[in-house]
Amino acid sequence: MSNLQKLNAALREAGQEAMLITAPASVRWLTGFTGSFGAVLARHDDSCFLTDSRYTVQAAEQVSDMPTRSFRSPQKFEEFLRDTVSEFGLDQLAFDQNQVTVGTLAKWEKTLTGVKFVPASDPIEELREIKSPEEVERIRTACKLTDEALTLLLEQTRPGVKEVELLWSLEDFLRPHGATLAFDPIIVSGPRTARPHGEPSERAIERGDFVTFDIGARLDGYCSDITRTVVVGPASDRQREVYEHLLKAQVACIEAMKPGAKGKTVDSLARTILDEKDLAQYFGHGLGHGLGALVHDSGRLSQTVDHDIKAGQVWTIEPGVYIEDFGGMRIEDDIVITETGNDVLTGFPKHLIELPC
Ligand code: ZN
Ligand code: ZN
Repeated sequence: MSNLQKLNAALREAGQEAMLITAPASVRWLTGFTGSFGAVLARHDDSCFLTDSRYTVQAAEQVSDMPTRSFRSPQKFEEFLRDTVSEFGLDQLAFDQNQVTVGTLAKWEKTLTGVKFVPASDPIEELREIKSPEEVERIRTACKLTDEALTLLLEQTRPGVKEVELLWSLEDFLRPHGATLAFDPIIVSGPRTARPHGEPSERAIERGDFVTFDIGARLDGYCSDITRTVVVGPASDRQREVYEHLLKAQVACIEAMKPGAKGKTVDSLARTILDEKDLAQYFGHGLGHGLGALVHDSGRLSQTVDHDIKAGQVWTIEPGVYIEDFGGMRIEDDIVITETGNDVLTGFPKHLIELPC
């Protein structure tokens, strides 16, 4: 079944005659279009791709499953949408409530008088969770690239080197490989590792520091997301004790990820194991998230959402422990759920690495 056929089936099931798909990742998944302005007016068996004159040529190359209609200045998008919707005889149009702003909706309602706009969830978000084998291979390739990047970064990590210098090295490494940063990397050292989402700073690394790297590459439209924490020089007993316990929790959670598992249960497992050493109190975020065209793609593993784990989904598993005045650590891998369990896409070693210095 093509992606368009999957969407048609989902729209029928939701009882929607027509929906405007606007999330760039969903538009790309549906059409292959990579430009910055495109939407799909999805109607069961008669969808069309909407863009403006900047992308007419690109759309002719990339969009093959449906006809393209484009508009040009001085026409405005809402006027173009009005004409298209009127030609199709629609009096109701569902839209992605997480994408369309209140301001945009007001413009549409003013211009498309007589059309009822219905807020809805983008059904593609859920469809995108199940990856095709080709998508999994793209994510695997992005993961391999970040494994290589980590090897390079660890070679450069020593006392005196600043966190931002490691960020620049990462950027320099990714670019010639045709990849970009999938998100703003987290590269923190020493006491700054207690910030789960700290930004690389001018701080120079010192002997005895923890250094956490949370990095990801976007390659060929798909993302990787990996975290490792290392020690510069020999680890203290406490650093080793906490790290090894975190690793135990992370490994157990990966083992528990298989079809039929529940996201909330696996998240609880991490907390139960960390609690053996009174560490769950220092783990303030969810266990993981969906990964794909977006780094934080649809799906969360946490106490607040329960998610059915299904074959074809790609997840991060990333428990962390962050203790002020001591330091923090996180271990993150990317996995794809298979029919019987899962396959780990990130390959970088995760025993506690003590860098020579
Ligand atoms: Zn990450
Ligand atoms: Zn992540």
